[in-house]
Amino acid sequence: MMGAPFQPTGGWIEVIAGVMFSGKSEELMRRVRRAVIARKRVQVFKSHLDARYSGLFAVSSHDGRSIEAIPVDSAEQVAQRLDPTAQVVAVDEAQFLDEGIADLASALADRGRRVILAGIDTDFRGEPFGIMPRLMAQAEMVDKLHAICVLCGAPASRNQRLIAGRPAAWDSPTIMVGGTESYEARCRACHVVPREDAAQAVLPFGLTSADGVKISGR
Ligand code: ADP
Ligand code: ZN
Repeated sequence: MMGAPFQPTGGWIEVIAGVMFSGKSEELMRRVRRAVIARKRVQVFKSHLDARYSGLFAVSSHDGRSIEAIPVDSAEQVAQRLDPTAQVVAVDEAQFLDEGIADLASALADRGRRVILAGIDTDFRGEPFGIMPRLMAQAEMVDKLHAICVLCGAPASRNQRLIAGRPAAWDSPTIMVGGTESYEARCRACHVVPREDAAQAVLPFGLTSADGVKISGR
């Protein structure tokens, strides 16, 4: 049976998850803007801050201050730069932060804060990525957003990694350092991850490749 709608009394955690281009940053900004309208004290953090984003992220508070995203590389930096009076703490690109962000988010929610985290929940293989699965499990609310598959127009739930324009192999590193790779949003059916050991890949529930289960994508 479905319970009553979630009606928070203290703090809580919200996660905005999904593929690249699914509108996570847009949704995070929308929530931050509305919190500002509600006269909450809001702080925004972002890992991998780029100039384009800081230009985009212009939220003006009611007293004329503008809220800017604070660049961070670790959960510790979030903790260090935290304004103890902030009522809403938002973190974009949370997938690049370490495990500490999950503990920090819980501690803040326990102390009555609203914590909003946006991040990519799967890696280029379509597997759970970094800290996001744990954050999603700890959160009171999770929204999973979709992009549009660039090949077929269906809702996209996968990050397609391309190297020199071709699908990257399963065993390429999860995070490529200084790489020349690019990414596309794709649906499950259009997502391709070539795997050398595909012939030996063990499929669940006794399925075989003859059952039409696409093992190259696994
Ligand atoms: P995210 O934070 O999830 O990466 P953003 O909020 O930065 O997403 O960007 C979402 C915007 O990206 C969309 O509003 C749209 O204008 C644009 N966009 C580019 N490619 C796509 C795509 N394949 N599917 C959906 N939106 C796309
Ligand atoms: Zn598709």
